[in-house]
Amino acid sequence: MNTLPSLIFERSRDGKIGCGLNDANVPAEAALDRELLRPPIADFPQVSEVEVVRHYMALARLNYSVDAGFYPLGSCTMKYNPKVNEKIATLEELQAHPYAPHDLVQGNLEIITRLEEWLVELTGMAGFTLAPAAGAHGEFAGMLIIRRCLQERGDPRKIVLIPDSAHGTNPASAHFAGYEARQIPSNARGILGRKELRAHLGPDVAALMMTNPNTLGIFESDIAAIAEDLHANGSLLYMDGANFNALMGVVRPGELGVDVMHLNLHKTFSTPHGGGGPGSGPVGVAAPLLPYLPVPRVLREGERLKVVYDDPRSIGRVKNFYGHFLVMVRALAYLMALGREHVARVAEDAVLNANYLRKRLEGLLELPYQAPTLHEVVFSDQGLPVKTLDIAKRLLDYGCHPFTVYFPLIVHGAMMIEPTETESKETLDEFVGVMETILGEARDNPDLLRQAPTRTPVRRLDETLAARRPLLRWRRGEDH
Ligand SMILES: *Cc1c(COP(=O)(O)O)cnc(C)c1O
Repeated sequence: MNTLPSLIFERSRDGKIGCGLNDANVPAEAALDRELLRPPIADFPQVSEVEVVRHYMALARLNYSVDAGFYPLGSCTMKYNPKVNEKIATLEELQAHPYAPHDLVQGNLEIITRLEEWLVELTGMAGFTLAPAAGAHGEFAGMLIIRRCLQERGDPRKIVLIPDSAHGTNPASAHFAGYEARQIPSNARGILGRKELRAHLGPDVAALMMTNPNTLGIFESDIAAIAEDLHANGSLLYMDGANFNALMGVVRPGELGVDVMHLNLHKTFSTPHGGGGPGSGPVGVAAPLLPYLPVPRVLREGERLKVVYDDPRSIGRVKNFYGHFLVMVRALAYLMALGREHVARVAEDAVLNANYLRKRLEGLLELPYQAPTLHEVVFSDQGLPVKTLDIAKRLLDYGCHPFTVYFPLIVHGAMMIEPTETESKETLDEFVGVMETILGEARDNPDLLRQAPTRTPVRRLDETLAARRPLLRWRRGEDH
Protein backbone atom coordinates (compact mmCIF):
# COMPACT_ATOMS: atom_id res chain seq x y z
CA MET A 1 0.00 0.00 0.00
CA ASN A 2 2.11 2.85 -1.27
CA THR A 3 -0.46 5.53 -1.91
CA LEU A 4 -2.91 7.46 0.16
CA PRO A 5 -6.37 5.98 0.03
CA SER A 6 -8.45 7.24 -2.84
CA LEU A 7 -10.33 10.26 -1.66
CA ILE A 8 -14.08 10.31 -1.70
CA PHE A 9 -13.86 13.78 -3.20
CA GLU A 10 -12.18 12.39 -6.29
CA ARG A 11 -14.77 9.64 -6.70
CA SER A 12 -17.65 12.05 -6.42
CA ARG A 13 -20.08 12.08 -9.38
CA ASP A 14 -23.26 14.08 -9.57
CA GLY A 15 -26.24 12.05 -8.50
CA LYS A 16 -24.45 9.24 -6.63
CA ILE A 17 -26.04 8.66 -3.25
CA GLY A 18 -25.22 6.57 -0.20
CA CYS A 19 -28.64 5.32 0.68
CA GLY A 20 -32.14 6.29 -0.33
CA LEU A 21 -34.64 7.18 2.37
CA ASN A 22 -38.22 8.06 1.66
CA ASP A 23 -39.10 11.71 1.52
CA ALA A 24 -39.99 13.13 4.91
CA ASN A 25 -43.74 13.33 5.56
CA VAL A 26 -43.47 16.57 7.55
CA PRO A 27 -42.73 19.98 6.03
CA ALA A 28 -38.96 20.31 5.73
CA GLU A 29 -38.65 23.75 7.30
CA ALA A 30 -41.35 23.50 9.92
CA ALA A 31 -39.03 23.33 12.89
CA LEU A 32 -36.32 25.90 12.25
CA ASP A 33 -36.25 29.48 11.11
CA ARG A 34 -34.72 29.91 7.70
CA GLU A 35 -32.05 32.21 9.08
CA LEU A 36 -30.92 29.51 11.50
CA LEU A 37 -30.19 27.10 8.67
CA ARG A 38 -26.72 27.05 7.17
CA PRO A 39 -26.41 27.46 3.42
CA PRO A 40 -26.02 24.24 1.43
CA ILE A 41 -22.45 22.91 1.58
CA ALA A 42 -20.70 23.48 -1.70
CA ASP A 43 -18.61 20.63 -3.05
CA PHE A 44 -20.09 17.99 -0.78
CA PRO A 45 -18.93 14.69 -2.29
CA GLN A 46 -21.55 12.49 -3.87
CA VAL A 47 -20.55 8.86 -3.44
CA SER A 48 -22.11 5.47 -2.72
CA GLU A 49 -22.25 3.96 0.76
CA VAL A 50 -19.57 1.37 0.03
CA GLU A 51 -17.19 4.08 -1.22
CA VAL A 52 -17.62 5.97 2.04
CA VAL A 53 -16.99 2.80 4.05
CA ARG A 54 -13.86 1.98 2.06
CA HIS A 55 -12.61 5.54 2.38
CA TYR A 56 -12.79 5.50 6.16
CA MET A 57 -11.47 1.95 6.44
CA ALA A 58 -8.47 2.93 4.32
CA LEU A 59 -7.85 5.98 6.49
CA ALA A 60 -8.14 3.87 9.64
CA ARG A 61 -5.54 1.45 8.30
CA LEU A 62 -3.04 4.32 8.10
CA ASN A 63 -3.07 4.51 11.88
CA TYR A 64 -0.36 2.82 13.85
CA SER A 65 -1.17 1.64 17.33
CA VAL A 66 -0.03 -0.83 19.92
CA ASP A 67 -2.84 -3.08 18.70
CA ALA A 68 -1.10 -3.09 15.31
CA GLY A 69 2.48 -3.71 16.39
CA PHE A 70 5.49 -3.04 18.60
CA TYR A 71 5.63 0.52 19.98
CA PRO A 72 8.90 1.10 21.87
CA LEU A 73 8.43 4.87 22.28
CA GLY A 74 10.64 5.67 25.28
CA SER A 75 9.23 7.57 28.26
CA CYS A 76 5.69 6.95 27.02
CA THR A 77 5.05 3.40 28.31
CA MET A 78 3.04 2.41 25.25
CA LYS A 79 2.12 -0.95 26.68
CA TYR A 80 -0.82 -3.08 25.71
CA ASN A 81 -3.86 -2.34 27.84
CA PRO A 82 -6.11 -5.33 28.48
CA LYS A 83 -9.43 -4.96 26.66
CA VAL A 84 -11.36 -6.19 29.70
CA ASN A 85 -10.64 -2.84 31.39
CA GLU A 86 -12.21 -1.02 28.44
CA LYS A 87 -15.24 -3.25 28.74
CA ILE A 88 -15.58 -2.53 32.46
CA ALA A 89 -15.33 1.21 31.86
CA THR A 90 -18.36 0.98 29.57
CA LEU A 91 -20.61 -0.76 32.16
CA GLU A 92 -23.86 1.11 32.24
CA GLU A 93 -24.08 0.87 36.04
CA LEU A 94 -21.01 3.10 36.37
CA GLN A 95 -22.21 5.95 34.21
CA ALA A 96 -23.53 8.70 36.46
CA HIS A 97 -24.19 12.40 36.18
CA PRO A 98 -21.53 14.40 38.02
CA TYR A 99 -24.25 16.31 39.88
CA ALA A 100 -25.94 13.10 41.07
CA PRO A 101 -26.58 13.26 44.84
CA HIS A 102 -23.79 11.54 46.77
CA ASP A 103 -26.23 9.11 48.33
CA LEU A 104 -27.01 7.74 44.87
CA VAL A 105 -23.41 7.34 43.71
CA GLN A 106 -21.79 5.73 46.74
CA GLY A 107 -20.52 2.96 44.45
CA ASN A 108 -18.72 5.42 42.18
CA LEU A 109 -17.26 7.20 45.20
CA GLU A 110 -16.11 3.81 46.49
CA ILE A 111 -14.23 3.24 43.22
CA ILE A 112 -12.48 6.60 43.59
CA THR A 113 -11.61 5.87 47.21
CA ARG A 114 -10.38 2.33 46.62
CA LEU A 115 -8.16 3.51 43.79
CA GLU A 116 -6.74 6.19 46.07
CA GLU A 117 -6.10 3.51 48.71
CA TRP A 118 -4.29 1.34 46.17
CA LEU A 119 -2.10 4.26 45.09
CA VAL A 120 -1.35 5.11 48.71
CA GLU A 121 -0.28 1.54 49.33
CA LEU A 122 1.85 1.32 46.18
CA THR A 123 3.65 4.62 46.72
CA GLY A 124 3.78 5.06 50.50
CA MET A 125 2.34 8.57 50.14
CA ALA A 126 -0.33 9.63 52.67
CA GLY A 127 -3.10 10.58 50.24
CA PHE A 128 -3.86 11.26 46.57
CA THR A 129 -6.00 13.57 44.52
CA LEU A 130 -7.29 11.93 41.36
CA ALA A 131 -8.46 15.21 39.82
CA PRO A 132 -5.62 16.21 37.44
CA ALA A 133 -6.23 15.22 33.81
CA ALA A 134 -2.66 14.40 32.77
CA GLY A 135 0.89 14.07 34.01
CA ALA A 136 1.80 17.68 33.32
CA HIS A 137 -1.44 18.81 34.97
CA GLY A 138 -0.47 16.74 38.03
CA GLU A 139 2.94 18.42 38.11
CA PHE A 140 1.26 21.80 38.03
CA ALA A 141 -1.15 20.85 40.85
CA GLY A 142 1.79 19.45 42.82
CA MET A 143 3.73 22.68 42.40
CA LEU A 144 0.71 24.67 43.60
CA ILE A 145 0.55 22.44 46.69
CA ILE A 146 4.22 23.14 47.42
CA ARG A 147 3.62 26.83 46.86
CA ARG A 148 0.67 26.93 49.25
CA CYS A 149 2.61 25.00 51.89
CA LEU A 150 5.60 27.35 51.75
CA GLN A 151 3.35 30.42 51.72
CA GLU A 152 1.64 29.18 54.87
CA ARG A 153 5.04 28.77 56.47
CA GLY A 154 5.68 32.42 55.63
CA ASP A 155 8.68 31.51 53.48
CA PRO A 156 7.42 31.45 49.88
CA ARG A 157 10.78 31.06 48.02
CA LYS A 158 11.37 31.44 44.29
CA ILE A 159 13.39 28.67 42.70
CA VAL A 160 12.68 25.09 41.63
CA LEU A 161 15.73 23.00 40.75
CA ILE A 162 15.41 20.51 37.90
CA PRO A 163 18.12 18.04 36.79
CA ASP A 164 19.01 18.06 33.08
CA SER A 165 17.77 14.45 32.82
CA ALA A 166 14.23 15.39 33.89
CA HIS A 167 11.19 15.25 31.66
CA GLY A 168 10.55 18.40 29.60
CA THR A 169 7.20 19.12 31.21
CA ASN A 170 8.85 19.71 34.62
CA PRO A 171 10.33 23.17 33.98
CA ALA A 172 7.11 24.24 32.25
CA SER A 173 4.99 23.21 35.26
CA ALA A 174 7.30 24.94 37.73
CA HIS A 175 7.23 28.07 35.60
CA PHE A 176 3.43 28.17 35.32
CA ALA A 177 3.16 27.74 39.09
CA GLY A 178 5.16 30.96 39.42
CA TYR A 179 8.62 29.59 40.08
CA GLU A 180 11.91 30.16 38.35
CA ALA A 181 13.01 26.77 36.96
CA ARG A 182 16.75 26.30 37.29
CA GLN A 183 18.50 23.42 35.54
CA ILE A 184 21.23 21.53 37.36
CA PRO A 185 23.59 18.99 35.80
CA SER A 186 23.47 15.27 36.47
CA ASN A 187 26.78 13.51 37.06
CA ALA A 188 28.84 11.11 34.91
CA ARG A 189 26.75 8.19 36.20
CA GLY A 190 23.65 9.82 34.68
CA ILE A 191 21.99 10.68 37.99
CA LEU A 192 21.80 13.69 40.27
CA GLY A 193 24.46 13.46 42.99
CA ARG A 194 24.43 15.13 46.40
CA LYS A 195 27.40 17.24 45.35
CA GLU A 196 25.61 18.78 42.36
CA LEU A 197 22.53 19.41 44.47
CA ARG A 198 24.41 21.04 47.34
CA ALA A 199 26.16 23.39 44.94
CA HIS A 200 22.75 24.82 44.04
CA LEU A 201 20.89 24.71 47.35
CA GLY A 202 20.13 28.04 48.94
CA PRO A 203 17.49 29.83 51.01
CA ASP A 204 15.40 30.59 47.91
CA VAL A 205 15.04 26.97 46.74
CA ALA A 206 11.43 25.87 47.12
CA ALA A 207 11.81 22.38 45.72
CA LEU A 208 13.63 19.92 43.53
CA MET A 209 11.67 18.20 40.76
CA MET A 210 13.19 14.83 40.07
CA THR A 211 12.06 12.32 37.47
CA ASN A 212 12.68 8.85 38.86
CA PRO A 213 13.68 6.66 37.15
CA ASN A 214 14.99 9.51 35.05
CA THR A 215 14.76 9.85 31.29
CA LEU A 216 17.94 7.80 30.87
CA GLY A 217 16.03 4.93 32.49
CA ILE A 218 18.39 5.14 35.48
CA PHE A 219 17.19 4.97 39.07
CA GLU A 220 18.11 8.10 41.04
CA SER A 221 19.87 6.09 43.71
CA ASP A 222 20.86 9.09 45.85
CA ILE A 223 17.24 10.12 46.24
CA ALA A 224 16.92 9.41 49.99
CA ALA A 225 20.07 11.42 50.83
CA ILE A 226 18.93 14.16 48.49
CA ALA A 227 15.57 14.30 50.29
CA GLU A 228 17.43 14.76 53.58
CA ASP A 229 19.54 17.59 52.17
CA LEU A 230 16.44 19.30 50.79
CA HIS A 231 14.51 19.00 54.04
CA ALA A 232 17.46 20.33 56.03
CA ASN A 233 17.33 23.32 53.67
CA GLY A 234 13.59 23.81 54.21
CA SER A 235 12.89 22.67 50.61
CA LEU A 236 10.56 19.97 49.33
CA LEU A 237 11.12 17.01 47.01
CA TYR A 238 8.79 16.54 44.04
CA MET A 239 9.07 13.24 42.23
CA ASP A 240 7.82 12.90 38.67
CA GLY A 241 6.46 9.35 38.81
CA ALA A 242 5.31 9.03 35.20
CA ASN A 243 7.90 6.24 34.89
CA PHE A 244 6.33 4.31 37.77
CA ASN A 245 5.98 1.28 35.50
CA ALA A 246 9.57 0.53 36.50
CA LEU A 247 8.90 0.75 40.25
CA MET A 248 5.36 -0.43 40.86
CA GLY A 249 5.14 -2.87 43.75
CA VAL A 250 8.91 -2.67 44.30
CA VAL A 251 9.74 0.89 45.43
CA ARG A 252 7.59 3.15 47.64
CA PRO A 253 8.72 6.75 47.00
CA GLY A 254 7.04 7.93 50.23
CA GLU A 255 9.61 5.91 52.16
CA LEU A 256 12.45 7.66 50.33
CA GLY A 257 11.45 11.10 51.58
CA VAL A 258 9.38 12.25 48.59
CA ASP A 259 6.92 15.00 49.59
CA VAL A 260 4.81 15.23 46.42
CA MET A 261 4.62 13.00 43.37
CA HIS A 262 2.39 12.30 40.41
CA LEU A 263 1.54 9.14 38.53
CA ASN A 264 0.27 8.75 34.98
CA LEU A 265 -2.76 6.45 35.00
CA HIS A 266 -2.66 6.58 31.19
CA LYS A 267 0.84 5.15 31.11
CA THR A 268 1.15 2.70 33.97
CA PHE A 269 -2.47 1.84 34.76
CA SER A 270 -4.22 0.70 31.61
CA THR A 271 -5.66 3.69 29.83
CA PRO A 272 -4.72 3.79 26.15
CA HIS A 273 -3.00 7.03 25.19
CA GLY A 274 -1.28 8.73 22.34
CA GLY A 275 -4.35 10.11 20.60
CA GLY A 276 -4.95 12.93 23.02
CA GLY A 277 -7.84 11.20 24.79
CA PRO A 278 -8.65 11.56 28.48
CA GLY A 279 -5.82 10.79 30.87
CA SER A 280 -5.24 11.13 34.58
CA GLY A 281 -2.30 12.38 36.62
CA PRO A 282 -3.04 11.69 40.31
CA VAL A 283 -0.92 13.59 42.81
CA GLY A 284 0.20 11.99 46.06
CA VAL A 285 1.46 13.90 49.07
CA ALA A 286 3.16 13.20 52.39
CA ALA A 287 1.02 13.59 55.52
CA PRO A 288 1.89 17.24 56.33
CA LEU A 289 0.66 18.28 52.87
CA LEU A 290 -2.72 16.52 52.99
CA PRO A 291 -4.67 19.71 53.84
CA TYR A 292 -3.56 21.35 50.59
CA LEU A 293 -4.88 18.66 48.22
CA PRO A 294 -7.41 19.98 45.69
CA VAL A 295 -11.16 19.75 46.30
CA PRO A 296 -13.43 17.92 45.95
CA ARG A 297 -11.97 15.27 48.30
CA VAL A 298 -13.81 12.00 48.75
CA LEU A 299 -13.40 10.82 52.33
CA ARG A 300 -14.60 7.85 54.35
CA GLU A 301 -16.95 8.68 57.20
CA GLY A 302 -17.89 5.46 58.93
CA GLU A 303 -19.70 3.30 56.38
CA ARG A 304 -20.42 6.23 54.06
CA LEU A 305 -18.35 8.29 51.67
CA LYS A 306 -18.64 12.04 51.84
CA VAL A 307 -17.39 14.68 49.45
CA VAL A 308 -15.67 17.77 50.84
CA TYR A 309 -15.92 20.85 48.63
CA ASP A 310 -14.75 23.70 50.78
CA ASP A 311 -11.58 23.42 52.71
CA PRO A 312 -9.87 26.74 53.35
CA ARG A 313 -6.36 25.29 53.20
CA SER A 314 -6.90 23.39 49.94
CA ILE A 315 -5.42 24.81 46.73
CA GLY A 316 -8.99 24.64 45.40
CA ARG A 317 -10.23 23.02 42.24
CA VAL A 318 -7.91 21.99 39.43
CA LYS A 319 -10.50 20.20 37.29
CA ASN A 320 -14.27 20.12 36.97
CA PHE A 321 -16.05 17.54 39.14
CA TYR A 322 -13.94 14.55 40.24
CA GLY A 323 -11.51 14.24 37.33
CA HIS A 324 -11.69 11.59 34.61
CA PHE A 325 -13.72 8.95 36.40
CA LEU A 326 -13.64 6.24 33.72
CA VAL A 327 -9.84 6.40 33.60
CA MET A 328 -9.94 5.66 37.34
CA VAL A 329 -12.27 2.72 36.68
CA ARG A 330 -9.75 1.23 34.24
CA ALA A 331 -6.91 1.70 36.74
CA LEU A 332 -8.78 0.04 39.58
CA ALA A 333 -9.92 -2.84 37.37
CA TYR A 334 -6.32 -3.30 36.19
CA LEU A 335 -4.94 -3.34 39.74
CA MET A 336 -7.64 -5.66 41.04
CA ALA A 337 -7.06 -8.07 38.15
CA LEU A 338 -3.32 -8.12 38.90
CA GLY A 339 -3.86 -8.49 42.64
CA ARG A 340 -1.41 -7.33 45.26
CA GLU A 341 0.89 -10.29 44.75
CA HIS A 342 1.33 -9.74 41.00
CA VAL A 343 1.70 -5.96 40.77
CA ALA A 344 5.47 -6.17 41.11
CA ARG A 345 5.65 -8.55 38.12
CA VAL A 346 4.71 -5.61 35.88
CA ALA A 347 7.79 -3.66 36.94
CA GLU A 348 10.03 -6.72 37.00
CA ASP A 349 9.08 -7.77 33.47
CA ALA A 350 9.28 -4.19 32.13
CA VAL A 351 12.83 -3.96 33.50
CA LEU A 352 13.72 -7.44 32.26
CA ASN A 353 12.52 -6.65 28.72
CA ALA A 354 14.43 -3.35 28.59
CA ASN A 355 17.59 -5.03 29.82
CA TYR A 356 17.21 -7.86 27.31
CA LEU A 357 17.10 -5.28 24.49
CA ARG A 358 20.00 -3.42 26.04
CA LYS A 359 22.14 -6.57 26.08
CA ARG A 360 21.25 -7.53 22.53
CA LEU A 361 21.79 -4.04 21.06
CA GLU A 362 24.83 -3.09 23.14
CA GLY A 363 27.32 -4.40 20.56
CA LEU A 364 25.57 -2.55 17.72
CA LEU A 365 24.98 0.88 19.20
CA GLU A 366 26.88 3.22 21.47
CA LEU A 367 25.63 3.14 25.08
CA PRO A 368 26.74 6.46 26.60
CA TYR A 369 25.71 5.74 30.21
CA GLN A 370 26.83 2.40 31.59
CA ALA A 371 24.80 2.54 34.82
CA PRO A 372 22.20 -0.22 35.12
CA THR A 373 18.94 0.80 33.48
CA LEU A 374 15.39 0.03 34.49
CA HIS A 375 12.41 0.15 32.13
CA GLU A 376 14.12 1.90 29.20
CA VAL A 377 17.55 2.26 27.66
CA VAL A 378 19.09 5.17 25.77
CA PHE A 379 21.59 4.64 22.95
CA SER A 380 23.47 7.22 20.89
CA ASP A 381 24.12 7.53 17.13
CA GLN A 382 27.76 8.35 17.81
CA GLY A 383 30.07 6.46 15.43
CA LEU A 384 27.32 5.50 12.97
CA PRO A 385 27.38 6.50 9.27
CA VAL A 386 23.77 7.74 9.58
CA LYS A 387 21.78 9.75 12.10
CA THR A 388 19.19 8.69 14.66
CA LEU A 389 16.44 10.18 12.50
CA ASP A 390 17.43 7.99 9.53
CA ILE A 391 17.21 4.83 11.63
CA ALA A 392 13.88 5.90 13.10
CA LYS A 393 12.47 6.58 9.62
CA ARG A 394 13.75 3.25 8.32
CA LEU A 395 12.00 1.44 11.18
CA LEU A 396 8.73 2.65 9.65
CA ASP A 397 9.58 0.74 6.47
CA TYR A 398 9.79 -2.43 8.56
CA GLY A 399 6.37 -1.83 10.12
CA CYS A 400 7.72 -0.83 13.53
CA HIS A 401 6.96 2.33 15.48
CA PRO A 402 10.23 4.20 16.11
CA PHE A 403 11.71 4.75 19.54
CA THR A 404 11.80 8.25 21.02
CA VAL A 405 14.44 10.31 19.19
CA TYR A 406 16.78 13.08 20.35
CA PHE A 407 15.58 12.94 23.95
CA PRO A 408 17.01 13.26 26.55
CA LEU A 409 19.09 16.13 25.24
CA ILE A 410 22.17 15.12 27.22
CA VAL A 411 22.73 12.17 24.85
CA HIS A 412 24.04 12.83 21.33
CA GLY A 413 21.44 11.56 18.84
CA ALA A 414 19.48 9.82 21.59
CA MET A 415 17.47 6.67 20.81
CA MET A 416 15.29 5.98 23.80
CA ILE A 417 13.79 2.50 23.78
CA GLU A 418 11.06 1.32 26.16
CA PRO A 419 9.69 -2.10 25.25
CA THR A 420 7.32 -2.47 28.29
CA GLU A 421 6.34 -5.71 30.00
CA THR A 422 3.58 -6.69 27.61
CA GLU A 423 5.92 -7.72 24.76
CA SER A 424 7.08 -11.29 24.29
CA LYS A 425 10.67 -12.41 23.75
CA GLU A 426 9.70 -13.24 20.15
CA THR A 427 8.67 -9.63 19.49
CA LEU A 428 11.85 -8.30 21.09
CA ASP A 429 13.93 -10.69 18.97
CA GLU A 430 12.13 -9.54 15.83
CA PHE A 431 12.89 -5.93 16.74
CA VAL A 432 16.57 -6.76 17.25
CA GLY A 433 16.53 -8.51 13.87
CA VAL A 434 15.13 -5.40 12.21
CA MET A 435 17.71 -3.20 13.94
CA GLU A 436 20.51 -5.52 12.74
CA THR A 437 19.19 -5.30 9.19
CA ILE A 438 18.93 -1.51 9.36
CA LEU A 439 22.42 -1.09 10.79
CA GLY A 440 23.73 -3.38 8.03
CA GLU A 441 22.04 -1.14 5.47
CA ALA A 442 23.55 1.89 7.20
CA ARG A 443 27.03 0.51 6.52
CA ASP A 444 26.42 -0.74 2.98
CA ASN A 445 24.01 1.84 1.59
CA PRO A 446 23.54 4.79 3.95
CA ASP A 447 21.59 6.72 1.30
CA LEU A 448 18.82 4.17 1.53
CA LEU A 449 18.32 5.23 5.14
CA ARG A 450 18.58 8.92 4.39
CA GLN A 451 15.67 8.55 1.98
CA ALA A 452 13.57 6.40 4.29
CA PRO A 453 10.73 5.80 4.71
CA THR A 454 10.11 4.46 1.22
CA ARG A 455 7.30 1.99 1.88
CA THR A 456 4.88 4.20 3.78
CA PRO A 457 1.93 6.10 2.28
CA VAL A 458 3.65 9.38 3.15
CA ARG A 459 7.38 9.72 2.57
CA ARG A 460 9.80 11.75 4.67
CA LEU A 461 8.19 14.98 5.74
CA ASP A 462 9.72 18.38 6.04
CA GLU A 463 9.67 18.31 9.83
CA THR A 464 9.80 22.08 10.22
CA LEU A 465 7.05 22.81 7.73
CA ALA A 466 4.96 19.94 9.08
CA ALA A 467 5.02 21.59 12.50
CA ARG A 468 4.71 25.20 11.33
CA ARG A 469 2.17 24.77 8.56
CA PRO A 470 0.46 21.42 9.13
CA LEU A 471 -1.90 20.27 6.38
CA LEU A 472 -4.54 18.48 8.33
CA ARG A 473 -7.29 18.25 5.73
CA TRP A 474 -7.59 17.57 2.06
CA ARG A 475 -8.30 20.53 -0.17
CA ARG A 476 -9.07 20.34 -3.83
CA GLY A 477 -6.06 21.14 -5.97
CA GLU A 478 -3.52 21.11 -3.13
CA ASP A 479 -0.56 18.87 -3.54
CA HIS A 480 0.00 16.34 -0.73
C1 LIG B 1 4.74 11.45 29.94
C2 LIG B 1 5.52 12.10 30.98
C3 LIG B 1 5.09 13.30 31.57
C4 LIG B 1 3.89 14.09 31.09
O1 LIG B 1 2.69 13.40 31.15
P1 LIG B 1 1.45 13.89 30.26
O2 LIG B 1 0.31 13.01 30.69
O3 LIG B 1 1.85 13.68 28.84
O4 LIG B 1 1.21 15.33 30.57
C5 LIG B 1 5.84 13.82 32.59
N1 LIG B 1 6.96 13.20 33.01
C6 LIG B 1 7.41 12.05 32.45
C7 LIG B 1 8.66 11.42 32.98
C8 LIG B 1 6.72 11.45 31.42
O5 LIG B 1 7.17 10.33 30.88
